[in-house]
Amino acid sequence: MFNNLSDKLESAFKNLKGEARITDLNIATTVKEIRRALLDADVNYKIAKEFTDKVKDKALGEKVINSINPGQLMVKIVKDELAELMGGTEATFSLAGNPTVILIAGLQGSGKTTFSGKLALYLKSKKNKSPLLVAADVYRPAAIDQLHVLGSQIGVDVYSDRESKDPVAIAEAAIKEARAKNKNVVIIDTAGRLAVDEVMMTEVKNIKETVNPQEILFVVDSMTGQDAVNTAKAFNDRLDFTGVVLTKLDGDTRGGAALTIKYTVDKPIKFASSGEKMDTLDVFYPERMAQRILGMGDITSLVEKAQEQFNEEEAKKLEKKIRQNKFDFQDFYDQLQQIKKMGNLKDLMAMIPGVGKAMKDIDISDDAFKGVEAMISSMTPQERADPDLINQSRKLRIAKGSGKDLNEVNAFMKQFEQMRQMMKQMNKMPMGMGRGMMGG
Ligand code: GDP
Repeated sequence: MFNNLSDKLESAFKNLKGEARITDLNIATTVKEIRRALLDADVNYKIAKEFTDKVKDKALGEKVINSINPGQLMVKIVKDELAELMGGTEATFSLAGNPTVILIAGLQGSGKTTFSGKLALYLKSKKNKSPLLVAADVYRPAAIDQLHVLGSQIGVDVYSDRESKDPVAIAEAAIKEARAKNKNVVIIDTAGRLAVDEVMMTEVKNIKETVNPQEILFVVDSMTGQDAVNTAKAFNDRLDFTGVVLTKLDGDTRGGAALTIKYTVDKPIKFASSGEKMDTLDVFYPERMAQRILGMGDITSLVEKAQEQFNEEEAKKLEKKIRQNKFDFQDFYDQLQQIKKMGNLKDLMAMIPGVGKAMKDIDISDDAFKGVEAMISSMTPQERADPDLINQSRKLRIAKGSGKDLNEVNAFMKQFEQMRQMMKQMNKMPMGMGRGMMGG
């Protein structure tokens, strides 16, 4: 995410490396490079200038305090300003109304339908809501099909009416249906066009005026840069939406849209979506995003994701097994499944400070665990529970069963043994130390 911008900012900060103080001169060079980095990321000239003027003023103001090292200070100032530019604090999301009505608008291809599905799943699994998805695109039958496919994937009902050519009537009927079926959130996926278009705008506006939504979310493809910001302006003038959703943050985006959309339309970014899988939707936190842009990782989000997946009872059981040196292949397998549920592996690792940057060119697929999983699956339950049971002939059988060769099985056995040894060492540490590391 925003790799190019991250690299350029980092190189701008290098100007201050080894400098004992912040001076007019070293600040000028750094700030100039920061501005260039922003312009390259497709940030509008005026916004980039305003941004760097603020950074400069703050940095020079700090000079007097003669504080920490200038490089660190600069990173902190830029981080704060980036967070501010993207909205400062976390935005609120209204679930008032019964049902809550959420209208989704944006250009065709921006990711509206995908986001509608993700939002429905998010509300269902994390907010305990019972959503109804509504296909209000009367022009593209394929769009209706797409929503039905997503709905069945995530177990959420979809309302559509293939005979109707009136999106306002569809939206009204859907809300009635929601009431009848005790659905408490209605998510209306509207039709998009390839470019800003009067007919489309009027249509969405008519739906808005009829159904009075609690939230109108404007979906924007982050890959489209400044264009996206201009489209957002046009939509906001007509619709006065309540918030922005950034999609396709998993792609090679330059960052311009994410950085400047809030400034331009003065509406908060509420969600960030990064991937085609239904569970890759995150609430948008400006501060965390700023940290990620600056390669500082995002430990808060990582811990939250872990907390969502790991159940305390299971964790206690696991800790006990580790303490008794009884961690086995089945435990390992179960842990892998939980990690996989947390999301895309590369995204997760990028949340660890410094790791995202180091790994940006390394291809880590979600299949990374496949080989290990195949080997464990080829073991008998007895072997999984008692790793010491596995002798040469069993290894050969496991290799055959998993389609791996003996060397790979041996390498995995060795790694697993090292892991168990490490756990043993931790158990020998004074109370608390080792266990703290296991999260216990
Ligand atoms: P709509 O026309 O606005 O409803 O857009 P769609 O939801 O159909 O999305 C258009 C294309 O972008 C589809 O191929 C989606 O799979 C893809 N897409 C949507 N959101 C994301 C995302 O966050 N990341 C990636 N990589 N692709 C996405």
